[in-house]
Amino acid sequence: MPQAKIIDGKQVAAKLHQALKEEVVALTKQGVTPGLATVRVGEDPASQVYVQMKEKACAMIGIMSRGIRPPADISQEDLIAQIEELNSDSNIHGILVQLPLPGHLNTPTVLQHVNPDKDVDGFHPLNLGKLLSAKYWEELPRFIPCTPAGVIKLIDSTGVEIAGKQAVVVGRSIIVGKPVAMLLLARQATVTICHSRTSDLGALTRTADILVAAVGVPQLIKGKMIKPGAVVIDVGVNRLEDGLVGDVDFNQAKEVAGYLTPVPGGVGPMTIIMLLTNTVRSAKAQLS
Ligand code: NDP
Repeated sequence: MPQAKIIDGKQVAAKLHQALKEEVVALTKQGVTPGLATVRVGEDPASQVYVQMKEKACAMIGIMSRGIRPPADISQEDLIAQIEELNSDSNIHGILVQLPLPGHLNTPTVLQHVNPDKDVDGFHPLNLGKLLSAKYWEELPRFIPCTPAGVIKLIDSTGVEIAGKQAVVVGRSIIVGKPVAMLLLARQATVTICHSRTSDLGALTRTADILVAAVGVPQLIKGKMIKPGAVVIDVGVNRLEDGLVGDVDFNQAKEVAGYLTPVPGGVGPMTIIMLLTNTVRSAKAQLS
């Protein structure tokens, strides 16, 4: 059996990292230091880790990050007021609202108050709407959601052409599944979206030249559900007692797929670099 080529997300991210660092140096020389506000409401342990990783990555490439840490019981009104302050702060080019928010806050309402020109996560309805409207890649909005953007970069890193291929996305969340599907469509793939009510998931995933799993169910995608030679991108991050696993059964998949991302070390590093890319893009737009 052929072994899949492992797509090294850390390596792909590292290449983008270097180029981005150079862009930040050039921008700073022109008087603009890209600035990212990280809004983390409350003390959710996973959010703490994610925000810390994002801020550390900012520091490594010279992006200024400003941590905003409202308490878990902040009112929606007060949170929106803080976001609006950031909207009008010219030193802040990107605003990241770390999700999930505490239950009493309405996430779509909060996200709607982020200035779409600083929406580096790409979750503002205006940017999501533009993503939906784009027929071709060139028509995409300035900000596209970070994990989906990273997924496309990983597929591109294999050299496999997306146009004309059968792509199957398992998962339809607004954070991953739906935007990934729209991006693949904009790259001229024929796209099928699967979800928890899909009957005979395997029959559909086996048609995929490009398979993206964004489910949150450990090792749901077995080897027999994969078309031989397919590009398989595993977005899932599932914490089990003996460590992290993806939504794809890695050991089985590597015997069948042509290319495969590991967990960890696949999609994860791409999400952060795409956030930094969006922040730099925003700072550049301010300059022009
Ligand atoms: P959600 O829970 O929001 O969405 C999961 C999707 O999977 C839903 O559409 C759901 O269907 C579908 N689903 C659930 N069970 C099945 C099943 N048995 N068969 C087919 N489809 C199923 O999760 P997210 O999209 O936010 O995240 C998905 C995974 O990606 C998680 O493991 C998350 O941790 C990870 N992730 C990783 C990131 C990274 O940077 N590496 C970033 C973001 C997420 P339905 O809509 O019908 O409920």
